[in-house]
Amino acid sequence: MKTVVFSTKPYDRRFLEAAGQAFEHELRFLEPRLTLETVELAHGFEAVCVFVNDVLDAPVLQALARQGTSAIALRCAGFNNVDLAMARELGIRVVRVPAYSPHAVAEHTVCLVLALNRHIHRAYSRVRDGNFSLNGLLGFDLHGRTVGVIGTGEIGRVFASIMRGFGCRVLGYDKFPNEKSRELGVEYVELPTLFAESDIISLHCPLTPETHHLIDADSIGKMKKGVMIINTSRGAVIDTHAVIAGLKTGKIGHLGLDVYEEEADVFFEDLSNVVIPDDTLSRLLTFPNVLITGHQAFFTREALGCIAETTLQNLADLEKDGTCPNEVKPAK
Ligand code: NAD
Repeated sequence: MKTVVFSTKPYDRRFLEAAGQAFEHELRFLEPRLTLETVELAHGFEAVCVFVNDVLDAPVLQALARQGTSAIALRCAGFNNVDLAMARELGIRVVRVPAYSPHAVAEHTVCLVLALNRHIHRAYSRVRDGNFSLNGLLGFDLHGRTVGVIGTGEIGRVFASIMRGFGCRVLGYDKFPNEKSRELGVEYVELPTLFAESDIISLHCPLTPETHHLIDADSIGKMKKGVMIINTSRGAVIDTHAVIAGLKTGKIGHLGLDVYEEEADVFFEDLSNVVIPDDTLSRLLTFPNVLITGHQAFFTREALGCIAETTLQNLADLEKDGTCPNEVKPAK
């Protein structure tokens, strides 16, 4: 299929080209993000291949349809950036990579927990500076602690299993609880209980109208003092202003973010030589107990290989007989 790939980084190209040898797609790689300003670059391409921060709202989809695009291939699991109802109205098919490596994201989540708890981000630069003092680096045993997992799907389950391995009690909340999680020892509870009893809360649900700002002033108010919050799902599941307020009072003891609600203009770019215009992100970066990574949880060789193969297979499925198991459709 004649496909234009937006938001291309060197690693995307490398993995898509390697996987592409087994397919006959014609791929054109472009660096810009897909927005209303750049949509014209897709003119004449049957398919556009996009990532988490590309814009696929109604005006962009309408422009794509006018220009001859009939398929959107997401190189990710989340599809919160696509107006699915509009895509259907325009006859544009949307496919995604529902599961590539839940281990990649879950392991990165654990990495944030461990680094924050034992202050590795601070110890690293301290020791390199010849400062071997331990003051301020005190952590806690994970063994015996309670971990709350919101969203016990593919990633949440791997995370829960690793935390069970540390000897943690794991509480789960999910709109659709599953048996596999129970078998891992996850105790399903309602959200107020999870908030009240967890020492660590980790978010693994999709971003939907229901989960938008699930972590806000009200839910933070129900949490333990000093709680650790980790978000590797989607930025807007957290109300960033509310967590900043919680950090300032000490209610939130640690915050680990791989995603941020206003990440689209910042993440995946090297801005080390410019002033970051986002005051909220800049404020977050001043806290010693906040650790932010730039949406890198998925970033392992295994995950990139699987994303590339599944994306190209999805396009081949659409081209062959129009049916693809990884198609996303609007909720009825
Ligand atoms: P999944 O679909 O396997 O699991 C999501 C779980 O959330 C499901 O069990 C579902 O029932 C549950 N859920 C849905 N609505 C809910 C609600 N209102 N409240 C509580 N739970 C709800 O998805 P996954 O593969 O585990 O991925 C989870 C999320 O992680 C994705 O939606 C995506 O946003 C994010 N993600 C981030 C990265 C990254 O690099 N940081 C990479 C991949 C995925």
